[in-house]
Amino acid sequence: MARRSVDVPALVESARAGAPRAVARLISLVEDGHETLREVMAALAPHAGSAWVIGLTGSPGVGKSTTTTALVGAFRQRGLRVGVLAVDPSSPFSGGALLGDRIRMQDHALDPEVYIRSMASRGHLGGLSWTTPQAIRVLDAAGCDVVLVETVGVGQSEVEIAGLADTSVVLLAPGMGDGIQAAKAGILEIGDVFVVNKADRDGADATVRDLRHMISLGDRSEPGLWRPPVVKTIAAQKVGIDEVMEALDKHRASASGNGELARRRERRAADEIESIALAALRSRFGTLGGREGLSALAREVVDGTLDPYAAADRLVETLGS
Ligand code: GDP
Repeated sequence: MARRSVDVPALVESARAGAPRAVARLISLVEDGHETLREVMAALAPHAGSAWVIGLTGSPGVGKSTTTTALVGAFRQRGLRVGVLAVDPSSPFSGGALLGDRIRMQDHALDPEVYIRSMASRGHLGGLSWTTPQAIRVLDAAGCDVVLVETVGVGQSEVEIAGLADTSVVLLAPGMGDGIQAAKAGILEIGDVFVVNKADRDGADATVRDLRHMISLGDRSEPGLWRPPVVKTIAAQKVGIDEVMEALDKHRASASGNGELARRRERRAADEIESIALAALRSRFGTLGGREGLSALAREVVDGTLDPYAAADRLVETLGS
């Protein structure tokens, strides 16, 4: 494939000036694990760090897209610039071919202060602990005050992504046995704000009750610690969105005040560093030639002349030399 040359400084400058195409191109570089990423990230770093990252997660059909659209509207009313990343951790496809159709955000499609992007996170080298924070950084440096990260489904990867956010919103709907599912998926621990959507349906109050009960079981109730509220919404009618905004604001204030925000951002950066380092190591393992190369060691393990732990030690030692 012919390689298109990338003028990174020009691209970053356009993105910072708010050019949607430049932002889109930078996110594509992230998805592709492009060779210029190092330069891109170095150029973006001084301009990032002020966006409020809000994760939204929940089972398919629970109302994430609808809620995200409503929240975008609410943030726009405050005059803020908003980025939306829809991440599908299970999809190896990039460019949003699948998710693109999913996002029904025509309300905001023409608003130049709103960037909407779907992406596959199980991309090339990185995996989600790499691509998602980098895409967030692009939107952050492009001047987004808020970045909403919507993940599809309730599985381990979604929990991981949601855990990367400054504020994590977990959505549930009545009658889907979601409360139990949430407990199983470990989602109760990561929710800062719980939303029971589709409150126009039967069973919403029971779901709210169940959820409050389950949250209270895990309540550490130390002073200064955040207690996740449960908010009822009918996102399709924009009912309850003000309450969700209020809960988000309160969480942000609390997390800034008690140091939780700083801790989360550090954890996010640590995950990112670790996955970049691991990918770098892995590529070096692959290129290590000679006697101590990975394939040579593998042959010895197959032959039984070396055990895998000793082989791994040798591989690691070679890296340092
Ligand atoms: P997602 O898969 O979690 O992103 O869910 P969507 O936002 O795509 O919503 C799934 C379906 O539920 C759509 O048909 C929405 O119109 C509908 N929906 C969203 N919010 C509500 C609500 O509050 N009440 C009802 N009855 N339907 C809703």
